[in-house]
Amino acid sequence: MSQVERVLGMIAEQGIQMIDVKFVDVPGMLHHLTIPAAVIDAEQLTGGFAFDGSSIRGFRGIAESDMVLLPDLNTAVYDPFVEGPTLSLFVDVKEPGLKEYSRDPRGVARRAERYLRETGIADVSYWGPELEFFIFDSVRFQTGPDASFYYIESGEAHWNLGRGDLPNNGYKVKYQQGYFRALPIDDQTNIRTAMTQQLQAMGFVVERHHHEVASAGQNEINFRFSTLVDAADKAALYKYVVKNVARSYGKTVTFMPKPLYRNSGSGMHTNQSLAKDGVNLFYDPNGYANLSRLALWYIGGLLYHAPALLAITNPTTNSYKRLVPGYEAPVNLVFSKANRSAAIRIPSNFATPKTTRIEFRTPDPMANPYLAFAAQLMAGLDGIRRRIDPTEAGFGPVDVDIHHLPADVLATMKTAPASLREAVNALKEDHEFLLEGGVFTKDLIETFIAMKEDEIHALETRPQPVEFEMYFDH
Ligand code: GLN
Ligand code: MG
Ligand code: MG
Ligand code: MG
Repeated sequence: MSQVERVLGMIAEQGIQMIDVKFVDVPGMLHHLTIPAAVIDAEQLTGGFAFDGSSIRGFRGIAESDMVLLPDLNTAVYDPFVEGPTLSLFVDVKEPGLKEYSRDPRGVARRAERYLRETGIADVSYWGPELEFFIFDSVRFQTGPDASFYYIESGEAHWNLGRGDLPNNGYKVKYQQGYFRALPIDDQTNIRTAMTQQLQAMGFVVERHHHEVASAGQNEINFRFSTLVDAADKAALYKYVVKNVARSYGKTVTFMPKPLYRNSGSGMHTNQSLAKDGVNLFYDPNGYANLSRLALWYIGGLLYHAPALLAITNPTTNSYKRLVPGYEAPVNLVFSKANRSAAIRIPSNFATPKTTRIEFRTPDPMANPYLAFAAQLMAGLDGIRRRIDPTEAGFGPVDVDIHHLPADVLATMKTAPASLREAVNALKEDHEFLLEGGVFTKDLIETFIAMKEDEIHALETRPQPVEFEMYFDH
């Protein structure tokens, strides 16, 4: 049975009334378009749907805005969040004539998979992202050109921010003590279970869920690793499910990397490995942390390109407020078997030949997962091609607690960019590795940089709440 027959069969058997096609814009935000199943036929499933790309961030100007959304029939799942019954499909964004569109993030991810096979180094890459997030009762903030305040409303946030005495704080998570706390402290267990069940219904293999360190409702739900495009689809769908379940509980979710001052931020640790003919290329029982030379070169590439790479994996002004010492977020561009403040950790204690991988801890959930996974792969492959030995390049390994090292040793370590501006400037200088095999295009990188410079400008030219606190009555 062809994929078209399978999907038409699902529509008929499940009484599907609506088709919801989903894709992300260049920054990585999810968009959708709904098409009644009554007008869907085999021709559209293979030929795509025409749409106007002019108002999607990072896509076309009005002059040549005719574009096509081509469904990926492998991604058909039931969408429980809308009236329907509704079938959800991820689409590739194409130019008329089904030509590849250089700025479609999913297209970049597809080209990265194709390029990996072309290099002959490996035939598949595996991706296991861990997205952390906060659940709040609500967040009030001003929007528009005059925006200059925000206010978070949830018991835990008030507790943290020290905003007055709230009654009944006995069962609130204490400052930075949320990790794995049992009920009744972890009052978000049930909402996470509801999220987990929806994820499972949509095809995720969920491996665990738990409360995270921060006191104000920080959570994590882990799902099984997958191939690059599929893992990026899952990261996008995960955010959709998590936000929509929260909404049904009257709550809001944010994936902002650092919503609360002096609390843990939210990362998107990205576990990754390469395999060929079913063999994990990262494993070698005789290597450091059971890593092969190839894996070490891959690490060398990630750390060498990290300053530029972070513009894509940590793409917001807020991202750099997370990358500070003291919150298990990486600061130093080093690798390590154990250290959680290293940019790359090798979870080797329980690793087997099959599960040996590296965990790049820098990325955060603001990243467009399609671009972020593709860019990490390209950096790692460049490390393999150039045989960048991470130890010779000064990237460790560092197996002692980094924050207890003497200042002169610390000073020799390379650190992550301190701001989005630094990362974007690094990307301007260093992006050839992304262009290999036509995976990223200059057009996309220039568009991306221009969008990010607008965000930097928006932050840097606008008075911040803390400036009033520091300077108003100076
Ligand atoms: N929240 C931490 C970060 O910002 C990670 C904490 C953890 O998962 N151990 O990356
Ligand atoms: Mg985790
Ligand atoms: Mg975590
Ligand atoms: Mg982790």
